[in-house]
Amino acid sequence: MVKIWGDNWLPRSGAFRVSSPWNTLPRDATVSFLIDDDLNTWNRELVETIFWEEEAQTILSIPIGNRSSNDKLLWHHDRTGYFTVKTAYSVHQEKKKAIREAEVGGPSTQFTRNWSWIWRTSIPPKIRLFLWNCCTRSLPVKERLRDRKVIEDSICVRCGCASESIIHCLLKCSYARQVWALSEVPFVVYNSELEDVEAWIKSVHSKSDAKEFGLFAVISWWIWFSRNKFIWKASDIQPLTLCAFAGKFFTRFQQSMLRNSSPKPNRALGSWSSPPNGYIKVNMDAACNNDGVIGIGLIARDCVGDCVGWRGITINLPLSPEASEAMAALRAVEFSLEKGWRNLIIEGDCLSVIQGISDLKLSAGVLGSIFEDIIVLAKDFHSFKALHVFREHNVAAHSLAKLASTGFVFSSLLPCSILEIVLSDSC
Ligand SMILES: [Zn+2]
Repeated sequence: MVKIWGDNWLPRSGAFRVSSPWNTLPRDATVSFLIDDDLNTWNRELVETIFWEEEAQTILSIPIGNRSSNDKLLWHHDRTGYFTVKTAYSVHQEKKKAIREAEVGGPSTQFTRNWSWIWRTSIPPKIRLFLWNCCTRSLPVKERLRDRKVIEDSICVRCGCASESIIHCLLKCSYARQVWALSEVPFVVYNSELEDVEAWIKSVHSKSDAKEFGLFAVISWWIWFSRNKFIWKASDIQPLTLCAFAGKFFTRFQQSMLRNSSPKPNRALGSWSSPPNGYIKVNMDAACNNDGVIGIGLIARDCVGDCVGWRGITINLPLSPEASEAMAALRAVEFSLEKGWRNLIIEGDCLSVIQGISDLKLSAGVLGSIFEDIIVLAKDFHSFKALHVFREHNVAAHSLAKLASTGFVFSSLLPCSILEIVLSDSC
């Protein structure tokens, strides 16, 4: 029962633990989650979604044998997998050498540098980690993958005219230059001579105030996010849109930090989480306008956070807030059956409704019949779960419900304001 995050299981030198940030799967998920039981292979799509490219390649390169065999401890430094004193001695010598080099400023100095200026920056943790990955040159840009012999060519897929180094991707590429030109971040100046990404980030850091540097970091992260979307999902974010999204994302983060500085429980710090591979999660909510008109918002997303369906419904019935929420749940289930989804998670912020769906005994009252309907319909799914979330993590469905309660006439496209929330939820 090897844990994906925290256990030593990757067959590579240096770090046997996964360094791709935890996401999607439960934090204590085991490696068996990543294996397709029927085909007895790695679940390639899942692995490629969850891990950084280089790490995904390492995982996919591990052969999977007979499932009935037990987990085994292997000694990485010997091809046989068995521990030998001889190989242990040479590992020890290597380590000593690395420490010596670090002391005299040799090639391993990055492990001894002080990164506290990054960890002190007021930005979301994943963006701090991103900056750190940039500065330690561990972001899996094509140039790095080429150097590690994972791929052969390192030409930037966006501009096609230079090798994709970190500094190219974030500053020199024509796409990045457009973003920075449109952004409100000062001190980011194109300089063809600049090669050292750490020096560049540090120079922006030294000139900017906390807010400017925060926005700089967030925009850099969005450039990387957009690059990955472009490569893996063949969809692109226009530079102007990127600047708008990044700006709103940063403002929302700052607001949540302000709210969290009050002594309330810190629940806004988390975020919406995507469902496991193969599942659809429908977030649902109900809202009521001043005239008593009820709006229901349903947002369906897949394991990578992409919106795969949505619905804004207006109801002209005098329902209680709890009954409106129960109706939202029923509509979510009907909508999902209509769409033909097999594995469903519905998620809402009304605890009593979620409890009622999960256990009829808890709510045999007025809403009992709606819950019964839901429970009967839920049997048509392969897998069905109802989960409770804090309101702060159900913003997309809530905003859609509010919009629906105004009698808004929806087109076939998800309204832009909701799309923005969905995008920032998924990153
Ligand atoms: Zn480029």
